[in-house]
Amino acid sequence: MHTTALVLFSGGQDSTTCLAHALSRFERVETVGFDYGQRHHVEMTARLTVLAELRQQFPTWAPKLGDDHVLDLAVLGQVSETSLTRDMAFQMESTGLPNTFVPGRNLLFLTLAAALAYRRGLQVIVTGVCETDFSGYPDCRDDTMKAMQLALSLGMDKRYLIDTPLMWVDKAATWQLAHDLGERAHPGGGAQLVDLITEHTHTCYAGDRTHRHAWGYGCGVCPACELRAKGHTVYRGTPIST
Ligand code: ZN
Repeated sequence: MHTTALVLFSGGQDSTTCLAHALSRFERVETVGFDYGQRHHVEMTARLTVLAELRQQFPTWAPKLGDDHVLDLAVLGQVSETSLTRDMAFQMESTGLPNTFVPGRNLLFLTLAAALAYRRGLQVIVTGVCETDFSGYPDCRDDTMKAMQLALSLGMDKRYLIDTPLMWVDKAATWQLAHDLGERAHPGGGAQLVDLITEHTHTCYAGDRTHRHAWGYGCGVCPACELRAKGHTVYRGTPIST
């Protein structure tokens, strides 16, 4: 029986939904974030705000929410040039991948998360990777996750479970999932969690916190904003189960 988890938590919509998933399922949940010289420290700030708001607004989850860890991954900036680590505009590359792609970034994240989980005695690693409507990052695919689970379990001689609650879920369903998880925490918690995610999470590649839309803050034109906005519109059009 798995009772403890480490959530890869960036302060975005997806990882916040993953955190809610973990808090509704496990007894002790810790979080880890990676600081890799992002151009937009707005993400690192967002994650602290989201953690504080979750603690305050969800009293049944608060006692389960343990330490938050931040690992310095500035080394990523030394091995890759991307629009996330350098001052360059977002664009699609000839490989068909966006230039936000850092080769193997998730493999590194998971390896470090597993090492941290080992030290902290946490059994499950929860990550918001998704095959459904993301940009086709190969290190987010289900097969990659299964291979990593095996490699980490063998390489650290410890049985890890990599939990990917969003793997086959599109953005509209991610909003709905957040609603359902919040509602399970307490009556009215569904709308509360959706509002919290809208107001405090950050996904925009451009780091824009000045434009407020129905779906939250962002430039409104980068692929991350487009996905978030489109999902929100579909979500709002569907009946909300309570
Ligand atoms: Zn944006």
